Amino acid sequence: MNSGRGRPSPMGAGRSARPGRRLRYVKRHGSGPNPGLVIFAALIAIIIAVSFFVIFSKKGGEGPAYFETETERATAETERVKDPFFRIEVPSSGVSEGDLILVNYDHPYVFPKKTGLVNVYANKTDDFKVAYTNYELEERVLDRIASLAAELRRTTGEKDLTVNSAYRSLEDQRGVWDMYEREQGIEAARLYVAEPGKSEHHTGLAVDLTVVRDDGSAVSIRDCGHYEEIDGLLVDYGFVLRYPGNKKDVTHIENEPWHYRYVGEPHSRIMTRTGLCLEEYVGFLKEYTADGTVLFLGPDGLLTSLVFDEAASASDGYIVFFVPAESGEYTRIAVPDDAAEYLVSGNNADGFVVTVKLGDADDGIASVAPSVSETVKKHVITD
Ligand SMILES: [Zn+2]
Repeated sequence: MNSGRGRPSPMGAGRSARPGRRLRYVKRHGSGPNPGLVIFAALIAIIIAVSFFVIFSKKGGEGPAYFETETERATAETERVKDPFFRIEVPSSGVSEGDLILVNYDHPYVFPKKTGLVNVYANKTDDFKVAYTNYELEERVLDRIASLAAELRRTTGEKDLTVNSAYRSLEDQRGVWDMYEREQGIEAARLYVAEPGKSEHHTGLAVDLTVVRDDGSAVSIRDCGHYEEIDGLLVDYGFVLRYPGNKKDVTHIENEPWHYRYVGEPHSRIMTRTGLCLEEYVGFLKEYTADGTVLFLGPDGLLTSLVFDEAASASDGYIVFFVPAESGEYTRIAVPDDAAEYLVSGNNADGFVVTVKLGDADDGIASVAPSVSETVKKHVITD
């Protein structure tokens, strides 16, 4: 719950300035200068100046994260006790990795050297089906599909949910494009098929779903009789309908009621609630930064914008904010000390989305952390 220190404001309301840190000092009364007082005042001034340097170098995002001398380090350490954040560094190249990368006509997928792809059929449960035995998905995505399929079967009896398309290599996508072009013409290919290199299926985070009965007959999930339950479960487990018909001007893809994309929690809920597609959501999140206001999803489901420090003081909920990629090798990110778990994802454009879960780490996000997050852990520079 919000501890009460946070002051929610309606989302989209004006930004509050980040509150400056208050320095306490004792005001002394006296008549005329005396040398002792002058020296004392000078010492206070030096202490204040050093404190400001430390504060701005730590909080402003501009100053050095490393300290030149032991004195600076000691001063910073003292300050850190009062500082409710720790800092991490992520490789700036990680901007093309993570659950929230935007892959579309304008943002080609950057194929990584190593993936977390696993074979769907080999890791399948009896609660769902897969169209081909060679299909692969990112492991955390398959875990979620298995969990939601189990819940679907438990609650509705539906056991024929079928993975109809999953990861596609560059060659796979060329094959899909060529087949469409051959059978339906170039115009149809342009409407329904992403160009090779620009398909979400390259990420291993996208899945096409249908329902295939035991006799081999296929129906769309819209017509299977449990569409609402399936769609609701997909959102609960971190997926969004990626190409709704009312967003085709933005996505450049026709309505595809079968194509879902894993974006993780709480983003699936926020995107569904706000009605933003991924192109819009990535732009929307850039409004929220650590030195302005961050997006706060409270445990009551209320979505607000808060000053970073205030959001971090809440005892439960999610904080989401954007950090522009730095031009150097690493980008520095501040994470609240109280974070139960946190996740960093690139947006495949110009920066990182940081998702912080406050409170208990029970059903948290670290268990589905992408490779960037693993990299992150190696680069924690303080705390
Ligand atoms: Zn698809």
